Amino acid sequence: MRDGTPHHDETVTVVGGGIAGLSAACYLADAGATVTVVEQNDQLGGVTGRLEAEGFSFDTGPSWYMMPETFERFFGHFGRSPGDYYDLERLDPQYRVFFKDGDRLDITPDLDRTRRLFESYEEGAAAALDEYLASARRTFEIGMDRFVYTDRSRLRDLVDPEIIQAAPALKHLGSMQSFVEGYFEHPKLQQLLQYTLVFLGGSPHDTPSLYHLMAHVDFEHGVYYPEGGMYSLVEALVSLGRELGVDYRTGEAVTALEPVADGIRVDSDAGSHVADSVVANANPAHVERELLPADRGRDPAYWDEQTYGPSAFMLYLGVEGDVDPLAHHSLVFPDDWDPHFDRIFEEPGWPEDPAYYLSVTSKTDDSVAPDGHHAVVVLVPIAPGLDDDPDRQASFRDAVLADLAARIGVDLRGRIVVERSASVSTFADRFNTPGGTALGLAHTLDQTGPLRPAHHAPGVEDLYYAGAFTSPGVGLPMAIISGEHAAAAVARGVDPSPFADFAPNL
Ligand SMILES: Cc1cc2nc3c(=O)[nH]c(=O)nc-3n(C[C@H](O)[C@H](O)[C@H](O)COP(=O)(O)OP(=O)(O)OC[C@H]3O[C@@H](n4cnc5c(N)ncnc54)[C@H](O)[C@@H]3O)c2cc1C
Repeated sequence: MRDGTPHHDETVTVVGGGIAGLSAACYLADAGATVTVVEQNDQLGGVTGRLEAEGFSFDTGPSWYMMPETFERFFGHFGRSPGDYYDLERLDPQYRVFFKDGDRLDITPDLDRTRRLFESYEEGAAAALDEYLASARRTFEIGMDRFVYTDRSRLRDLVDPEIIQAAPALKHLGSMQSFVEGYFEHPKLQQLLQYTLVFLGGSPHDTPSLYHLMAHVDFEHGVYYPEGGMYSLVEALVSLGRELGVDYRTGEAVTALEPVADGIRVDSDAGSHVADSVVANANPAHVERELLPADRGRDPAYWDEQTYGPSAFMLYLGVEGDVDPLAHHSLVFPDDWDPHFDRIFEEPGWPEDPAYYLSVTSKTDDSVAPDGHHAVVVLVPIAPGLDDDPDRQASFRDAVLADLAARIGVDLRGRIVVERSASVSTFADRFNTPGGTALGLAHTLDQTGPLRPAHHAPGVEDLYYAGAFTSPGVGLPMAIISGEHAAAAVARGVDPSPFADFAPNL
């Protein structure tokens, strides 16, 4: 698809069946290509997985369905809507926050209630929230329109009058920490507005305040739940892909990508084939360090120097009895969370007083746990690269469950009937991510927008990237959009511009 138009005789292999790979496959097949998705695991979806055990069903990775318009836009491109595949429920409360000092609060879809809640913590905070959200909304609208839906993953894409006009609204390059402090003094309100950064894989100290736009997504767009769990989205993408003619091969690891005269030879543990183009949803660090010939791709040192988002320590627990007062989504914050962020980004180590997240989808959906039981997922963000030998994991598991019992009053111990876990080594082994990062490249200032790896692999004519390591970035909505941009890059083909392959730090 080198002249920007679909060619029915083009073959494209998508390496990796995560959300971005599944999205790219749909766009490419719709444009007329013959598309094969090759996924190393038995299950499609990548980190968006489903674990079923003894009547319980757990979302193994993402569980917050946000920015529903991005999913409508995706399915709309194919003349479908999300409702053709799954039912969505808006959650109320969206989430519950437990502070370890005993305090707790609910964020609901009712913005007036949220304003009153803010005012109850700090005089003037309701008005400050109005201003904060107005700024977040403006930044979101400009950001989505000009940077997210429009692919600006190459530096030359910034040389555009629209971008220059957007500059005043995109002045937010200082840290989230100081930006939020400029609006709110109360540490709990500051935490509330900063926690969404964990979704982006960053800390408040090194994530640009541009991302305060997440408050608009959170407080004004809301949090949703697809019936059956997040894996319903994966099933929808695969159904749509099948309708469009995509072929899926699972349990097949790609072992090498070799540029050849007429495309790229794809070697896997099941054989070898040549594709006109390859879209790697497998992360570019893995592709360039382990799949491409040594003289192709970026210098391996580039990948050592990047800032990676957190990994995660996760427990999937089938629990007998009720788990009140946990909500569908619950966040647990220590009084001072700086030491936990330091343990992720500054001095990697297991946190002593962790901040963590709990998902209990059975609060909304009876189908995910047997009667009288709940499906509970515990997620503690931790540093990538940590040594997670079984003893370390066991003692951390005990510490988190003890913390939950002592500080929040929910004692799960003694009534856990199903238990599974995931940690740094799980993410590294199952998804080939550097250091077992769960989220990919963090959204630091120098890893934002065109400073993230572009969709066209540098120096390899027919190789493209889609996924959380590229642009727009981390999260399900971004993975969906990344697939669209990668498919468009395949259609564009090699760009003769001298800047097309510009990769900082190459
Ligand atoms: C624990 C967790 C919680 C999250 N929570 C949320 C949330 O609540 N909401 C939200 O919006 N986002 C959330 N995210 C982020 C979001 O899930 C990701 O950004 C998104 O799913 C990434 O999709 P992807 O397609 O880029 O990558 P992946 O899902 O990593 O897919 C890459 C695929 O490539 C495959 N692959 C790798 N190497 C090879 C190879 N050699 N051969 C064949 N296949 C290969 C992998 O097996 C994998 O299937 C969360 C992520 C995690 C991990």
